[in-house]
Amino acid sequence: MKYQLIIKNAHYFANGDFFYGDILAAGGKIVGIVAAGTADYDQAERVIDAAGLEVLPGIVDSHVHFRDPSRPDREDFYTGSSAAAAGCVTTFCEMPLAIPPPCNVENLHNRIRLAEERSIVDFAMFGAAGYDNRYLLQDILDEGAIAFKTFLHPAPAGREKEFDGLTVNDDGQLYIMMQAAASTTGRYFFHCENAKLISAIEADLHEKGVNGNEFHYLSRAEVAETESVSTIIQFAKATGCKVGVVHISVPEACQMVKEAKMDGVDIVAETCFHYLTYDHSHIDEFGPYAKCNPPLRSAADKEKLWGYLLDGTITMVGSDHAPFTPEEKSIGLTQGIWKAYSGMPAIEMLLPIMLTHVNSGRITLAQLARYISENTAKLFHLYPQKGCIAVGSDADFAIIDMNEEYVTSIEKMYSKSKAINKLFDGTKVKGKPKYTVVRGTVVMENGVVDMSKKGYGQFARPQKAK
Ligand SMILES: [Zn+2]
Repeated sequence: MKYQLIIKNAHYFANGDFFYGDILAAGGKIVGIVAAGTADYDQAERVIDAAGLEVLPGIVDSHVHFRDPSRPDREDFYTGSSAAAAGCVTTFCEMPLAIPPPCNVENLHNRIRLAEERSIVDFAMFGAAGYDNRYLLQDILDEGAIAFKTFLHPAPAGREKEFDGLTVNDDGQLYIMMQAAASTTGRYFFHCENAKLISAIEADLHEKGVNGNEFHYLSRAEVAETESVSTIIQFAKATGCKVGVVHISVPEACQMVKEAKMDGVDIVAETCFHYLTYDHSHIDEFGPYAKCNPPLRSAADKEKLWGYLLDGTITMVGSDHAPFTPEEKSIGLTQGIWKAYSGMPAIEMLLPIMLTHVNSGRITLAQLARYISENTAKLFHLYPQKGCIAVGSDADFAIIDMNEEYVTSIEKMYSKSKAINKLFDGTKVKGKPKYTVVRGTVVMENGVVDMSKKGYGQFARPQKAK
């Protein structure tokens, strides 16, 4: 057999547009694209007829917390990557929260090895950056990290091991860390919420007896995000450090990023599909199950966020997949929403929800392909190996049916923490992931993930950032 796979009659995304063709894959790569209906199908081990479907480059999820190794009761690379495959994510970018975090070369190396043993799909790794490891950063990049993540607060009580080498305690440490970071080739992503401001507001709300679900979005006020983004911009200007803001949720913060870019600051912003889809009313209704940080914002903010996505201020859309046990969420129902852990295991919902937005006319499919695959791959120097349908690229595909409507169900999800996905249960969506192809191998078909592919996933190493 000459080919591993032929995708016949593919309506595929390339160079910002869609084209028709037969896509030929061999040895994990795209080796040819010929006129639709003209390939020699007898020469392929597998033929997928994609007539009536759309073929996108495999989704690159910019923001994932599988956390392996740390809490196998929540998720590991095997279960997490099966959820990725269910949602056509062919490469996940794993954030640096783990025990131990990738705050040095050895830890990163061990983490990559673990993912190679367990993952079904390909993966890239963030490194952990903090004040304490600020002189190790270039070494971590050389080992293959795509970028760094830093938290702007001390480790939360009880989670010190998970946050080792990931934090700065105050603005002074942040500034010194960014000075050191500026001389490396990496980009530094920040979770932008001013923790001191939030704890002061929390104390005040407790004193006032506010104890409903609204406590969550009232305490994590928008100003906590805008203040933090503003600090990052000022320090980036002063140090020359390349920066990024993850899960941006406040329009005013987006405006700051837009202006900073015009000012010559090297800054990018990511948002998540839930900030484009849900709002305060969902926190009111779902309580801890709609609790994430930063919180879902007002309906008016959500509308404005779309504007900053479509005008290019925001570079990419991720899932911020964050698994927790049922108990870690349900405690928020009985003891107050502030007791519940923050985050949703959302990776398998990223694509169907965004496709539903395409169907409702919010965004075109070509634009979406950039925000959830091409732009992300480019930013992390994984392009054109990833995020691209062209000869020589990895044969990674998200094959979808834009017309199929269905109702989501927790029962059919793959994350080990799917039980807490109540926000995404029973949702009517239009646009269905049909096949997930990783380097020419089908790992998901019609919603069923091939669980025998444990360990098939490979480490996606960025080309050296220049
Ligand atoms: Zn996150």
